Amino acid sequence: MDPCGFDDGFDEWFSEMLKLGGYEDDVSFLPEVDQEENSIDSDELYDLIDKEKTIENGFKWMSEECLLAFTISAEKLHCEGIEHKFGELHSQCFSVESHDKIFHHYNFTIEEKHGNSDVWTSKLYFAEVKQFSGVKSFLCCLLEQNDCGHCYGCKNQDVYDLKHPSKGGYYEGHSGICWPFMDETDYDSDSDDGCVLGY
Ligand SMILES: [Zn+2]
Repeated sequence: MDPCGFDDGFDEWFSEMLKLGGYEDDVSFLPEVDQEENSIDSDELYDLIDKEKTIENGFKWMSEECLLAFTISAEKLHCEGIEHKFGELHSQCFSVESHDKIFHHYNFTIEEKHGNSDVWTSKLYFAEVKQFSGVKSFLCCLLEQNDCGHCYGCKNQDVYDLKHPSKGGYYEGHSGICWPFMDETDYDSDSDDGCVLGY
């Protein structure tokens, strides 16, 4: 039994993930999936993806999502009189709990400048972009020095440098969550969580 819930609809789900990753107009390189066997070789899919293009698109797309999450929250926080611009992406972790439950955590900086000042200062933020049952939602908050909130999604993928707000409010994932494309070289044999995609 697949612990991550990918028994059905893998091809559709994978195509959607690629679109989210910047392949908005071109998923034609994807091979046809054998519907009878409902199986596809993930190594084959990886070979078909231009890795440089993926990274370049990924950074652009992720930075835009961070800025969007910040902008939505900034409106709520009434930041009138303060000028903002995106700084840099520090850390990110994309978690897939099931085909209709995905969430992405980010640490990034926003540069800000007050009034007529010429001095830009940088602040570190946490953002969550999650999509549950097709509904996308955004969360963003300023990180404090001592923030150390827990997250299974990031921890189980060894993303330890990503800080979460201690006050919570974000989605942590369940204890068995894993990256479904983990291969043998990445797999931690000491772990007993059985996180291998079973398609
Ligand atoms: Zn996280």
